[in-house]
Amino acid sequence: MSDPVVQALVRALGERAVLTDATDRARFETGWRYGKGQARCVVRPASTAEVSTALRVCAEHGVRVVAQGANTGLVASSTPDASGSMVVLSLERLNATIELDGKGRTVLVDGGVLLSQLNERLAHDGFWFPVDLGADPQIGGMVATNTGGTRLLKYGDVRHNLLGIEVVLGDGRVLSQLNRLRKNNTGLDCKHLFVGTTGVFGVVTRAVLQVAPVPKQRSVALVGCRDGQAVLALLQVLEADLGDVLSAFEVMSANAMAAVFAHQPNLRKPFAELPRYAALVELSSTLPADTLALDGVLEARLGAFLEGAGEAVTDVLVGKGDEFWQIRHHISESLRSEGKMLAFDISVPRSQLPAFTAEVERLLAAEWPQVRLCDYGHWGDGGTHLNLVWNEVAVGKPATEVVAALQPRIYEMAVRDFDGSYSAEHCVGPHNQRYYDLYTDPLVKQFCALVGDFCDPGDRLGTVRLA
Ligand SMILES: Cc1cc2nc3c(=O)[nH]c(=O)nc-3n(C[C@H](O)[C@H](O)[C@H](O)COP(=O)(O)OP(=O)(O)OC[C@H]3O[C@@H](n4cnc5c(N)ncnc54)[C@H](O)[C@@H]3O)c2cc1C
Repeated sequence: MSDPVVQALVRALGERAVLTDATDRARFETGWRYGKGQARCVVRPASTAEVSTALRVCAEHGVRVVAQGANTGLVASSTPDASGSMVVLSLERLNATIELDGKGRTVLVDGGVLLSQLNERLAHDGFWFPVDLGADPQIGGMVATNTGGTRLLKYGDVRHNLLGIEVVLGDGRVLSQLNRLRKNNTGLDCKHLFVGTTGVFGVVTRAVLQVAPVPKQRSVALVGCRDGQAVLALLQVLEADLGDVLSAFEVMSANAMAAVFAHQPNLRKPFAELPRYAALVELSSTLPADTLALDGVLEARLGAFLEGAGEAVTDVLVGKGDEFWQIRHHISESLRSEGKMLAFDISVPRSQLPAFTAEVERLLAAEWPQVRLCDYGHWGDGGTHLNLVWNEVAVGKPATEVVAALQPRIYEMAVRDFDGSYSAEHCVGPHNQRYYDLYTDPLVKQFCALVGDFCDPGDRLGTVRLA
């Protein structure tokens, strides 16, 4: 291998740490949903010191680097560009440390540890890291994207659960703030600069997280609702009366559920007729069932709600939690099997979700009647994966044309008309860079430029521009 960068990386870290073969590189070059490029090589350090060495070598050669965790990100920010000149820095071998402090309810964990590995270890002591989603990301990737997930309503996102951090900066310097304290008001808490900034300011090598006791019981229901207003009325009642134990409030539209039942033959349709929306309600508690019987509590409250709601609520099904969650977790892949898809990860103020959705429906009915809205998502925290699906032949236009016409209109509606976000939880990447450029305050960009100058002096990290 004559490439001087590859040679220097091999000299510094050994052959095992550097992948150059096209077959070995392939899985690092394609993202889950978007993003396909070509890497000069993939470097896989196994310690903070090795990450530092790798970044120093790349800086000395003026080479751009993209950090990669489990590559489950959905905005194309974890894969290299098409130039063939970038190095992918994979954290998959940096996964040895998981040190639990049970009494402190904190854990020190390496950036390359998978969420599933962490939870497996924590389960021995009755804890879990409660940022919960349908993928298995690494902790460093979760910090870099500030992962939200299905239980944000109760536990918050990664930022909310992150106490300390260790980061290697673009030129190899190591910034360590591995704070284990919940209270520590002693000046700048640097970790926030690295949360949700997609790895452009540094590579997360270790983190201190607060963990939660595993609930002793969960109770789950599906509630069929006639429209979005009925969904919000239900949410309001649940928060007022059962807020202490409400741990998830997910919503699935009839179109999204229909895709699941069309493509997942093992999953049973729980409703005779699919309602406009089904709300998946989960209660959970660390109290045992003989102290507080959650099934009974949920059934009683939903029964009363059903009585008062008239025709706004069509069904209440309690129990079968795993089955109901399976339906929710299979939506994304089922929609992909339906034809062409344009995915959105939008949030608006919760009270505006029905009005926003109705505006999108009006737009589609008027201009793109063959495009179906298959919305679902985390309504409890104002998030909607407002996905559009269509058959390319029926629409009679290339998918690129449909995307070019609809994507900017819907983002404009979300951000300008409804005070919402064009990226509620998936962060910023090449997939939505132009909307970042369009909607971000110039002063914020200036601030990012200053932080970038300090953290990554050569501007070599990542494929996203925050400045
Ligand atoms: C089926 C499915 C369901 C999902 N559900 C949700 C959901 O409910 N909520 C949600 O928020 N997200 C969700 N996601 C998105 C995704 O899982 C998260 O963004 C995830 O946390 C990314 O972690 P990762 O390790 O896969 O990072 P990657 O995809 O590898 O990288 C993502 C970004 O982080 C950077 N990065 C990775 N590791 C590091 C590091 N150690 N240091 C610095 N930067 C780094 C990369 O450069 C890239 O910019 C889902 C994804 C899938 C595929």
